[in-house]
Amino acid sequence: MPVSLTWRDMRDRLAQALVAANGRGLDDVQKAAAFVEHELDFALSHTFGGHSSCVEFEPGSDQYFVCDMGSGARPFGAHVLARQSGRPAVVNIFMSHMHWDHIMGFPFFGPAYVQGTRLRIYGCHSDLEHALRRQQDPPSFPVPFKQLAANIEFVTLVPGETTEVSGVKVTPAPQFHSGDSFGFRFEHGGRSFVYSTDSEHKLEDIRETQRIVAFFRGADLVIFDAMYSLAEAVSVKADWGHSSNVVGVELCQMAQVKQLALFHHEPANDDGAIHRILRDARRLEELTRPGQKLEVTAAYDGMEIDL
Ligand SMILES: [Zn+2]
Ligand SMILES: [Zn+2]
Repeated sequence: MPVSLTWRDMRDRLAQALVAANGRGLDDVQKAAAFVEHELDFALSHTFGGHSSCVEFEPGSDQYFVCDMGSGARPFGAHVLARQSGRPAVVNIFMSHMHWDHIMGFPFFGPAYVQGTRLRIYGCHSDLEHALRRQQDPPSFPVPFKQLAANIEFVTLVPGETTEVSGVKVTPAPQFHSGDSFGFRFEHGGRSFVYSTDSEHKLEDIRETQRIVAFFRGADLVIFDAMYSLAEAVSVKADWGHSSNVVGVELCQMAQVKQLALFHHEPANDDGAIHRILRDARRLEELTRPGQKLEVTAAYDGMEIDL
């Protein structure tokens, strides 16, 4: 579920920030902004946001590339429309699976309503088109899928097979998740990243671990389902189809990945809890570093990473 800060969170943050600033002589906005940026606790000065899955990547083309159509598809659509300023866009959409949190933004994706837009929707599920059409059927949404102005095309990808999409190489891999999900490895201009969400890993299954390590191998970035801490993932939430920060660090170290972005945060976790999961992952990475450093971050709404 998408989540946002509540008024209570906001009030508590403001109260704590005011106490922290007491006696600091912050009498202009610049001084106050510098204090917030450099001295205030991360959990007070930032928010991870709370949109559900939607990740754009820019290989330097005039087309758009995006993974999943969660609630973040609404602001992503606004960004596309603003950048196109009237020119119709070509958007390549890669769908990991059709759980609601990954498709719910599609009916609010502005470019779908613009004549001349081309949407190419890629995925490995045969019922992907059905899932997207169905969520706009009455009485759930006022505009049926067939009334969308864009030219919409569905392309089925085969797991393990590399396909070239407008100069970008994409290889899907099956993942353990209710109803199956697929991760995607993208390669372009000597850079690679893996989008791997909604996936549970059982490291005791050696062959399965080797398969995932090969899929992640040497990637510049892996965006990884770290919904839980390890304690949650192995006890109460085993077999829920999600993974943890610790498993993310271990798999990325084995695969000599350069950067790991913890992703698909648990909606019940506030910013402080997500930050603790990030801090634990960084500590583990430091303690178990095999040589090459693995940069660990936790994804937040609007985050940009240069590869
Ligand atoms: Zn899912
Ligand atoms: Zn999900």
